[in-house]
Amino acid sequence: MNIKKNELMKNHTSFKIGGPADEFCEAVSEEEVRNLIEYAKNKGIDYIVMGNGSNLLVGDKGIRGLVIKLARGFDSTEVSGKTIKAQSGILLSRLANTALKHELSGLEFASGIPGTLGGAVFMNAGAYGGEMKDVITSVTYLEDGEIRTADKDELDFGYRRSIFCDKDAVILSAEMSLDESEYDKIKEMMDDFKERRTSKQPLSMPSAGSTFKRPEGFFAGKLIEDAGLKGFRIGGAEVSQKHSGFVVNADNATARDVLGLIEHIQKTVYDKFGVKLETEVKMLGEF
Ligand SMILES: Cc1cc2nc3c(=O)[nH]c(=O)nc-3n(C[C@H](O)[C@H](O)[C@H](O)COP(=O)(O)OP(=O)(O)OC[C@H]3O[C@@H](n4cnc5c(N)ncnc54)[C@H](O)[C@@H]3O)c2cc1C
Repeated sequence: MNIKKNELMKNHTSFKIGGPADEFCEAVSEEEVRNLIEYAKNKGIDYIVMGNGSNLLVGDKGIRGLVIKLARGFDSTEVSGKTIKAQSGILLSRLANTALKHELSGLEFASGIPGTLGGAVFMNAGAYGGEMKDVITSVTYLEDGEIRTADKDELDFGYRRSIFCDKDAVILSAEMSLDESEYDKIKEMMDDFKERRTSKQPLSMPSAGSTFKRPEGFFAGKLIEDAGLKGFRIGGAEVSQKHSGFVVNADNATARDVLGLIEHIQKTVYDKFGVKLETEVKMLGEF
């Protein structure tokens, strides 16, 4: 186990923000995940699991305890007919490309989401009318020292949530059922989504994607823009000029800048429109 001390989390988050994790390890096998959890338990320290850090705001003072990252090295795939089974650390872009190569349709929506399969299952990630729950058939995870498999029906998928939001479990792998299609059709859809993403989202600036969940009956970005907050800044954190639903790290923002801006947006939108904005981004560690 290659456990690093005081690893800066800003090197592991798409926001490029976050202080040091006391201990940090990128696990490459199920056995290593087990051993790391055992290690944390024996040491009496907390542990958390992360994927690609693309939905995280980590505090400036970092994370006490152990961070287990499941990404590179924990990313094998097996394709059999219309089924793909993959380890949770695989990036969605790679997974979607694997599906494309095998002329399997269903993961096009996920091709531009910069997370891992584990993070996407946890969040029930979705875009352009597709969600993970449309393709997942079962998930294998580690809980209480046991490896368990649950079918889709048991996973309580909802808007940007799954049963894993309420569990202390490590998602190890997932099985997906896709549809046979043609390479060109799948590619065309992926290219279309890519084009829409590039034209609308501030992809050249660090962020964690949409900062807020979509409030029922509204669009977070529109409410924020209508509240006059487009381009509003606190420290280095800014409401994106390109898409008001994104808070971006415009200039060496701290986690406190982002948090302050999030709270300001929530208060302003509530005062003007009576709508409560709930964060989609997950906060971790000490601010
Ligand atoms: C530019 C940009 C665009 C985005 N667009 C979209 C979009 O269109 N749709 C969308 O839904 N999201 C989008 N996101 C957000 C993000 O990419 C997704 O939420 C993604 O699913 C997070 O995956 P991750 O691996 O980065 O998870 P992380 O951010 O590392 O973690 C997210 C949560 O999942 C948990 N987790 C991660 N892996 C595991 C595991 N193996 N076992 C147990 N728990 C785990 C973590 O503890 C954490 O609570 C976007 C983000 C960015 C930066």
